Amino acid sequence: MELSKFCPRCGRETDNLYGDKKKLCAGCYTDENDLLELPDVVEHVTCPVCGRLKMEGKWLERYGLEEQLGERFSEFNQDGVEMRLQYWEEEDGTTQVRVHASAGEMQDTYDAELRPKQEQCQPCSRFSSSFYK
Ligand SMILES: [Zn+2]
Ligand SMILES: [Zn+2]
Repeated sequence: MELSKFCPRCGRETDNLYGDKKKLCAGCYTDENDLLELPDVVEHVTCPVCGRLKMEGKWLERYGLEEQLGERFSEFNQDGVEMRLQYWEEEDGTTQVRVHASAGEMQDTYDAELRPKQEQCQPCSRFSSSFYK
């Protein structure tokens, strides 16, 4: 006798089912669940003076958009999920980031808008406040 697993949602035969309670195939799982929790808008805070990136209250020496995006979005990563990032500028000047997430045969994409914010880091603001005294 041959036993095959199938997905109760789409009826597709599959070797692997995912999820704790509902066992779903890879395609259905990513329809109903997110591999990553990505907000629609991601704040991107950099120092206008030295260009450092602020993350969780700390200033990191990450310069240039690509390196900063990698660092910034690593915050949303989940165990066992691989992320690949793409970004582009829209005509209205906003930056869109697309995250390609994959975990084994499951894959999905998530879009976020990057909202740039400028804030002086402590060393730079200390410097400028003593400078202007
Ligand atoms: Zn399915
Ligand atoms: Zn700075």
